Amino acid sequence: MTAIIVTAIVVAGLIVNGLRLRARVPSALPAAPAGPGGSRPPGPDWTWLTARGTAPDAATRRAAAAHAAAERLEMLELVPSDLPVTAARDMLRRVDPVAYRDNRIAVGRGAGIAVLVAGPMAERADARPVDEPGDPADVVAAIRHLRPCAPSRGAAIVVAPGLRYGTSPGGGYPAGGGTAGDGRTAGDLDRRRARLQANQVVVSVHVALDAIPFALTALALAAGWPWGLLALAAYCLQPYLIFAGTALAPRGLHAAALGRPVHAPYVIGRTLAGRWQSAAGRRRDVELAAAGPYYQAALAAGPQRFLEERRPDCPWCASPALTVAVRSPDLGVGKPGTFTLERCGNCGHVFQNPRLTLEGLGFYYRDVYDGLGTDTTERVFTATRQSYLGRAGMVRPYTTPKAWLDVGAGHGHFAAIAAEAWPETVFDGLDMGAGILEAERRGWVDTAYHGEFPALADTLAGRYDVISMHHYLEHTRDPRAELDAAARALPPGGYLLIELPDPQWPLAGLFGRYWMPWFQPQHQHLMPLANLAEALEQRGLRPVAVERGPAHIASDFFLAAVLWLWHHASPYAVPWRPPASAAGQAWRAVLWMVGVPVMAAGLLLDLTAGRALARRRDVGNAYRILARKEDILSHDR
Ligand SMILES: [Zn+2]
Repeated sequence: MTAIIVTAIVVAGLIVNGLRLRARVPSALPAAPAGPGGSRPPGPDWTWLTARGTAPDAATRRAAAAHAAAERLEMLELVPSDLPVTAARDMLRRVDPVAYRDNRIAVGRGAGIAVLVAGPMAERADARPVDEPGDPADVVAAIRHLRPCAPSRGAAIVVAPGLRYGTSPGGGYPAGGGTAGDGRTAGDLDRRRARLQANQVVVSVHVALDAIPFALTALALAAGWPWGLLALAAYCLQPYLIFAGTALAPRGLHAAALGRPVHAPYVIGRTLAGRWQSAAGRRRDVELAAAGPYYQAALAAGPQRFLEERRPDCPWCASPALTVAVRSPDLGVGKPGTFTLERCGNCGHVFQNPRLTLEGLGFYYRDVYDGLGTDTTERVFTATRQSYLGRAGMVRPYTTPKAWLDVGAGHGHFAAIAAEAWPETVFDGLDMGAGILEAERRGWVDTAYHGEFPALADTLAGRYDVISMHHYLEHTRDPRAELDAAARALPPGGYLLIELPDPQWPLAGLFGRYWMPWFQPQHQHLMPLANLAEALEQRGLRPVAVERGPAHIASDFFLAAVLWLWHHASPYAVPWRPPASAAGQAWRAVLWMVGVPVMAAGLLLDLTAGRALARRRDVGNAYRILARKEDILSHDR
């Protein structure tokens, strides 16, 4: 009986996942329309980025330019139909071509073989011409830089039937590009790790997902081998389910399918052993080494010096009735130190106590949103598209904004998505981090203000009919000074939209320090809704709408699992922590393999129990409040 159940689960899982990946195979590039031979295709000048060893022929180039012009694409990636099977599968796991085309804030990804870029966009993106075509990992790094500059529906991926992968004997990329570490020339599998990293993949998770179907199939065989054979057959045939009859005919498909029980562990081993580095990877190593001395010097006297004296009372209402809400290390980033959030028994305000000094804030923010942490952080912001649309839609019953300022805009993700809901509105962004300048380069915000809002508020006064602060106030030292600034900057009748984590979310206590919104040491203040509403009223900002359940971001269980794993098995090398030993790395790989199913279970709980609770009780792990600045000010400052 057990054997039948295990086999049924394995077979169903393989079929569902196989069909999911099959649906993602990009469509084939249409042949160029017949016309006068040799005539230039309509549209702008095109720039090609290609990996070494692959060159689109004239017919493919013509077809690609015609397709891009017809579909109004500014960027078109061509995938060779004979891409090696592992690379093809990796691409499908990372990229859903439909979502990729439609989502303006999608992180640029792909196979990295050949990309066509419209000239004006290449110019706007400040894309340096690629003098010497490199590895696909290098091309993907360029795609990551370019994709955010394309408008919605402006970037696509297709399979090019006429494009062949690699031209060197045996295929792949042995030419001139370094070694595998043991003197052998680095082939495709030796480079897989670097190419996955170029695609923003956490390699531990990706490889754990390679290993799980293998392990489950072995389990089915062990549970009762006559039935287990069915699981084995499904395991071996799944690659055909993904690729057969699609535009892709990957190289090595038969060996990878029929020999999968041997091929899969071989690929996992070669991936984990891969030491080959892309140009971006080598640059990162240099940056890591350069960052080391700062962190050593900063930490020489211990992290205690980054904390002020503990205060005896609540900063919001001055009550001395304080209790510890949570004690936590820096779980997300892993810098040394322990932090305490205290809760006021009188007003419910939650705040960091003792709080960080200004120097401490600098230390703990460094290399998180900018510098070494840019890519990691970017991935997190990309995941919350629906939440962005919800925020943008909240003002609709009240006003039609002409100009909107997003304060704490980060890299401009909200503005990029909100512009879809408000195409006529000008979106500007303000942030203390340098990411906001990148947002302007991408065209995600019209104008970027780099600095502190209270200092800039007077110069911005009267220019915006909506000011938004999403997950911003909790990062500031003095949230009420930010509200003062908003009251100064808004014209009468203007709106302030705020979204914040809700410290009153009933499930928060379930996760202890692993509830993501505690986010130590960055979060300084977490305000109950009533406190914030009162502070707004006091500034002549009258709350007109509140959302609690609809503001819920269904991710608590999932993110708690991620945080736990991140804390105990961080997959990244960072300059503030010694590198892991070989045994430590092996242990981390095991934790990820066990952790990935736990993460999946967490996601399931979020989408069922968590979401149901938010709907039924109209509460959430975040809330939104929209306030209108009164025409006659109750007080003027
Ligand atoms: Zn209080």
